[in-house]
Amino acid sequence: LLNVERLTKSFGTHRVLTCIDMSVRAGDVTCIVGPSGSGKSTLLRCLNHLEVPDSGVVFLDGAPIGVRWRGQTLHRMSFNELAAQRQRMGMVFQSFNLFPHKTALENIIEAPIVVQRHKRSEAIEEAMVLLDKVGLRERAHYYPKQLSGGQQQRVAIARSLAMRPAVMLFDEPTSALDPELVGEVLAVMRQLAEEGMTMVVVTHEMAFARDVADHLIFMDGGVIVEGGPPREVLSNPQHARTKSFLARVL
Ligand code: ATP
Ligand code: MG
Repeated sequence: LLNVERLTKSFGTHRVLTCIDMSVRAGDVTCIVGPSGSGKSTLLRCLNHLEVPDSGVVFLDGAPIGVRWRGQTLHRMSFNELAAQRQRMGMVFQSFNLFPHKTALENIIEAPIVVQRHKRSEAIEEAMVLLDKVGLRERAHYYPKQLSGGQQQRVAIARSLAMRPAVMLFDEPTSALDPELVGEVLAVMRQLAEEGMTMVVVTHEMAFARDVADHLIFMDGGVIVEGGPPREVLSNPQHARTKSFLARVL
């Protein structure tokens, strides 16, 4: 579903990603772990062109993201074309970024109505189904500040799902939460995974990665050091850098 080929990204002279290759099959959960500064967030942001890679291409369903062939050469897409592609990739951040002056329900229906031009009544119906899914049907009319961090993050997940993305990208979705609220968000993500959603998850939650991921990637210094089935990577890491990282976090 998602293919990354030879992706490279620098900020000024600082090379942050070097020649990243990865692929994600439809329905798979890929977890990305690695030390701070290793380039995990940058990689995730390059997947949907929140950051424009210096070189390399990301393909979604075979179509290159953000660029388009014209004859033999690749050209930058127009903003509208890129926006249409981005809608197919939901993104959930560490900070929930809900609109503070809108209720949970209003947050979820905003993009379907404004961007996808759905009828308000249909958007509301769908949003209520999603709120139910994340366990917040009763909180539909609450404002973000009336919700806990875990509840806000679940609304943010529902808001992304309302666009019916082909893949969901998560960047440390639980690391801003109080420890007792982490579980409810991970439970929602685990359920999504079981329903077959394709997901790429940057996380420090090693138990989640072990139990839910189909594929675990370890990044360090802007490269993918190794990847494979999580139990194999966790129990039998091949590289010294993976071993020392795991020794610190497990
Ligand atoms: P963390 O676990 O702390 O979130 P990360 O693996 O997500 O780390 P990135 O956020 O991708 O790491 O950052 C990788 C490197 O790129 C860091 O050295 C960071 O300082 C640098 N970097 C990230 N974004 C920018 C930017 N917009 N401008 C300049 N440098 C940046
Ligand atoms: Mg990060």
